[in-house]
Amino acid sequence: MAEPQIIWFRNDLRLADQAAVRAAAAAGPVIAVYVLDDETPGKWRIGAAQRWWLHYSLVALAADLKKMGGALVLRRGRPAAELAAVAKAANATAVHALHHYEPWAVTEEAAVAKVLDLTLHDGAYLAPPGTTKSGSGTPYRIFTPFWNALQHAMPPGDPEPAPMIRFAKPPKSDDLDDWKLLAADPDWSGGFDVWTPGEAGAHAALDTFADVAADYEHGRNYPAKPLTSRLSPHLHHGEISPAQVWAAISGRGEGPVSYRREIGWRDFAINIVQQFPRLGDEPNRPQFADFPFRDDPKGLRAWQRGRTGYPIVDAGMRQLWTTGWMHNRVRMIVASFLTKHLLIDWRHGERWFWDCLVDADYGNNSLGWQWIMGSGVDSSPFNRIFTPVGQSEKFDGGGAYIREWVPELAKLPDDAIHAPWDASPMALKAAGVDLGKTYPHPIVDHAKARARALAAYAETKG
Ligand SMILES: Cc1cc2nc3c(=O)[nH]c(=O)nc-3n(C[C@H](O)[C@H](O)[C@H](O)COP(=O)(O)OP(=O)(O)OC[C@H]3O[C@@H](n4cnc5c(N)ncnc54)[C@H](O)[C@@H]3O)c2cc1C
Repeated sequence: MAEPQIIWFRNDLRLADQAAVRAAAAAGPVIAVYVLDDETPGKWRIGAAQRWWLHYSLVALAADLKKMGGALVLRRGRPAAELAAVAKAANATAVHALHHYEPWAVTEEAAVAKVLDLTLHDGAYLAPPGTTKSGSGTPYRIFTPFWNALQHAMPPGDPEPAPMIRFAKPPKSDDLDDWKLLAADPDWSGGFDVWTPGEAGAHAALDTFADVAADYEHGRNYPAKPLTSRLSPHLHHGEISPAQVWAAISGRGEGPVSYRREIGWRDFAINIVQQFPRLGDEPNRPQFADFPFRDDPKGLRAWQRGRTGYPIVDAGMRQLWTTGWMHNRVRMIVASFLTKHLLIDWRHGERWFWDCLVDADYGNNSLGWQWIMGSGVDSSPFNRIFTPVGQSEKFDGGGAYIREWVPELAKLPDDAIHAPWDASPMALKAAGVDLGKTYPHPIVDHAKARARALAAYAETKG
């Protein structure tokens, strides 16, 4: 009889189009394992909002395996030690997993390969990171040429259905509740019921998006419109593969073309992580290493809590806190505000996102912050400073997004909601807004903050 095959699930919590599942199922009876590793990643251990997601995603995966007659074995600790213990108990040596590229993931792959017969498979990205190279064989550091080259390797292979699986007798498992993944303090999860973690939830989200994908190109920048896919937490946890998304959103005009390009950014980010494993900790451009950031705990707190006095910034930060997600346009606005208006180190913002986002992703998050800061290899120049009011008027003209997330301003007319400090006392009174009491005054003046940021930048340039 064939030896039991271990599937080491990581951020690839699905059964369909999952090469490790397919290979293990083809080779013998299967033992499905997830190991919660809070040690190897150090400060990049899974953040609080994501722990909520992980809990429910593991519940969903375990239920799917149960329907097929199997079980999910849960272990906590270093994967090499835990998988070795599982293998010993099950008389197994072969482990199948998808390849992941965060520095701690690479470390653990090497450690597992030392003690077991580990086979790594592709499938977490459109193309294996490191394979999209220029004519001279070097990896790209700029998105557009990267994307042009990646498209030559597209489409990805046709997505495969979940295989038939035969299961081996599973060894002892932890009890998921003992991991206390839901025990964030404060408990945010009340606002997280907009999400359905798990493979079925991912496909439901994809189906919903497929109906409006044609409108993506013109609608994707408007935070009040539900015209982006909201697939980021599903993609991050691997509940759906990029190849499945690509196949579902192919050939429907301009919307899908720009949508596939966004999925390409995800591949780009991990390619940059491969080249700069410390992307989350160090600026790509050395000139930013000594940037004169301000130490401003009060400002940071106001930003985190959505109390800056700039309605579009506060709306975004409150959407993040309540739902674990923020629209991309608003992520850019709030990141620019923190790093340029408040001159606070981008790593403080990155950490807050890491803890609050259900889609927190080392590559995408670090790339996004360095892009806004201007310190990335491919990034917006530092002196491109978003004007919060201008952005708000342009992308939330009727103020629907602000009204949803900053309800104390909801009754202000459209022409006053973006900058309440400029509204007439009559308009404020009629809307029940008492600046400084019901809603804060702006914590910085835009023009002064802009000048201060540009002066700081000039200092860095020497
Ligand atoms: C400061 C900052 C931090 C960010 N942090 C994260 C993060 O931690 N995790 C994360 O997944 N995305 C992050 N992004 C990128 C982007 O904001 C989100 O991927 C997007 O808002 C998710 O919503 P969606 O699924 O509806 O996106 P869609 O517009 O529907 O895009 C589809 C998918 O493409 C990928 N994608 C889209 N935009 C980007 C991008 N700029 N970079 C990389 N991948 C992208 C995502 O996987 C996304 O789900 C960040 C952006 C900024 C500016």
